[in-house]
Amino acid sequence: MSATAPRIAIVGVAGRMGRTLVAAVEQDAGAVLGAGIVEPGSSLVGADIGELAGLGRLGVSAVDSLEAAEEDFDVLIDFTAPRVTLANLAFCAEHGKRMVIGTTGLNDEELAKLDEYQEKLPFVFAPNMSVGVNLTLKLLETAAKALGDEGYDIEVIEAHHRHKVDAPSGTALKMGEVIADSLGRDLKTHGVFERVGQCGPRDAKEIGFATLRAGDIVGEHTVMFATEGERIEITHKASSRMTFARGAVRAARWVVDKPAGRYAMQDVLGFN
Ligand code: NAD
Repeated sequence: MSATAPRIAIVGVAGRMGRTLVAAVEQDAGAVLGAGIVEPGSSLVGADIGELAGLGRLGVSAVDSLEAAEEDFDVLIDFTAPRVTLANLAFCAEHGKRMVIGTTGLNDEELAKLDEYQEKLPFVFAPNMSVGVNLTLKLLETAAKALGDEGYDIEVIEAHHRHKVDAPSGTALKMGEVIADSLGRDLKTHGVFERVGQCGPRDAKEIGFATLRAGDIVGEHTVMFATEGERIEITHKASSRMTFARGAVRAARWVVDKPAGRYAMQDVLGFN
C-alpha cells in the first residue's frame, strides 16, 4: 500500500455524494479510484462508475459488496446511512482497511458503537467535511467564549435541500456541541429543537435550533449571537457538494498512515 496515493473505494457510489466523490478522487493527483460499491442486488452492478458520475468511462465497474472490492482499496469513503456505515466499519476493522465516514443522522447508540472501533482501525468521522465549515467551528468556539455568558442569545439556523432525511443537520448539531463545550453547557439539557405554541420566554442558556428544508439548497448554516443593541452572525454557505467531497478525499489521504483511532476533520486540518 502506498501512503502517498491510497486506493479509494466509494460506497453509495450512485448517490448524490457518491457521484461527487468519484469526480473528487479523479481530480486528486494524490489518490487513486479503486472501487465503487452500490446497494446489494442493484441493477447498477457492472456499470462503469465514471459513467454513473457523468464523467465518461473510467474503467472501474460497480460491485455490490465490500467483499467483492476487498483487494482493490486501502481507504473506504462512506456517505450512506448509519446502519450501512456501521456494518462497513466492522468489515474495514476486520480487513485492515481505513475509513472516512461522512454519514450523518447517527443516534446516540450508533455514535457509541463508533467509539468501540477506535482501537481497531484509523477512521475519520465528520458530519461536515468542508474545510470552511471546520474553520467556522473554530470561529464559533472563539465567539461563544467571548459572548455566550455575557447576555448573548445563541441560535443555530440551517437550511438544506428537500431530500435530506435527518434534522437538524449533523453540522448544526456539531456547531451546537462546539458552542456548548466552549461554555461548559450540555447540549442535551440546553439545546432547544422545537418551539410551538405557548412555549414561554427564552432561557438565557438555551442554544436554539431552526431547520429549513427547501429545493436544492446544498447546505447553509448561520449561528446568531444576539443581545440588546447588536447581533453577530457567523454564516457558512456551501454552493456545491464538491466542497464535502474534496474534504473527504483529503481526509482519506491523511488517515491512510495513521494509527488506529477515531479522528475528526479538525485533526485532518491540523486544528487540534
Ligand atoms: P443519497 O441518498 O443520494 O446517497 C446515499 C447512497 O447510499 C444511495 O445511492 C444508496 O443507494 C447508497 N446505499 C444505501 N445502502 C447501501 C449499501 N448497503 N451498500 C451500498 N450503498 C448503499 O444521499 P447523499 O445526499 O449522498 O447523503 C448521504 C449521507 O451523507 C447522508 O447521511 C448525508 O447527510 C451525508 N452527508 C454528509 C456530508 C459531510 O460533509 N459529512 C455532506 C453531504 C452529505
